[in-house]
Amino acid sequence: MQPKQTIIHLPVYQPGKPIEAVKRELGLSEVIKLASNENPFGCSPKAKEAIVAELETASLYPDGGAVELTSALAGHFGVQPNQIIFGAGSDDVILMIARAYLVQGDETVMATHTFPQYKHNCEIEGAVSIEVPLKDGKHDLPAMLARINDRTKIVWICNPNNPTGTVVSRQELNDFLKQVPAHVLVVLDEAYIEYSESPELPNGIDVIAEYDNVITLRTFSKIYGLASLRIGYGIGHPDVIHAINQVREPFNTNRFAQAAAKAAVEDQQFIAFCREQNAQGIAYLTGEFNRLGLDYYPAYGNFIMVDVKRPAKDVFDGLLRKGLIVRGGHALDFPTKIRVTVGSETQNAKFISALEQVLGEVAANG
Ligand SMILES: *Cc1c(COP(=O)(O)O)cnc(C)c1O
Repeated sequence: MQPKQTIIHLPVYQPGKPIEAVKRELGLSEVIKLASNENPFGCSPKAKEAIVAELETASLYPDGGAVELTSALAGHFGVQPNQIIFGAGSDDVILMIARAYLVQGDETVMATHTFPQYKHNCEIEGAVSIEVPLKDGKHDLPAMLARINDRTKIVWICNPNNPTGTVVSRQELNDFLKQVPAHVLVVLDEAYIEYSESPELPNGIDVIAEYDNVITLRTFSKIYGLASLRIGYGIGHPDVIHAINQVREPFNTNRFAQAAAKAAVEDQQFIAFCREQNAQGIAYLTGEFNRLGLDYYPAYGNFIMVDVKRPAKDVFDGLLRKGLIVRGGHALDFPTKIRVTVGSETQNAKFISALEQVLGEVAANG
């Protein structure tokens, strides 16, 4: 047996350690996970009620077209239902885009470093990933533009960027899109867009109204707090959505996810609360980083990448021993940085206290 050539070199995704495993292994009674950008406030209580109500029909296949949820989102964003596609998380939408648009030898342009699923899925389809280094942690759009040619099928822009948390501005994106040839699909991944209301930040909904070759990706896993249900979506031109629908699994999103997502979108009060708490968390954490003399990238999502000026692995291990799971930059090619999710007020304070101790224990570089 021989799997296809394009996957032979691919690693199997390595998830962070689950909280329970860390507790057991280190004999800790409390472990705080600030590693996966999950919502520390959970999800809307209305979403929980919707999940429970759906238990009655668990034996029935879900609505493959997610008609009710589509209609709720179309109303929320002021777009047409045929402009929306759902996936089992936006990861699934990324996979479907790659599957629908790429064949062996096609080129696709992305930043390095950014969300790894773009490259992963493009490689499975045999496409060549052109990786353009970040500049000060930000997408270098002029450099990315320069790498577009006749073979380019897709450009990926993660805004805010994971793992750095930085954004490209409305102006920068516009200058870029004006020059991108119409045959290139631009994927604007806005998994964290709801966390910021900054007017300098582009909003994919406005962008797709102007450019037919842009699709924005959103998710219910982050501010909506429904990561385990696996539901995300793309919004774009009906022709693009149609092409992606042609490769979609018939029942790729489940009943619980659809019902919870619909209830969640209708509870914008909860979202506003989370956004406000997150902004306070960022203000607190960056204030503490300043006090500790640590640099960080400007954060627009619910996570911050901070330079701990020490080997990231050592700081990661030190924090782990104190019951805090973060994302160590050593795994992401940022050797002296860590990425930390903004938690609740209590979690943030515990993180800072642990970090301050660990910084004292681990010798600074240089
Ligand atoms: C978390 C994340 C996603 C995917 O989330 P799903 O759970 O698959 O919806 C997509 N893009 C970025 C940048 C993310 O950080």
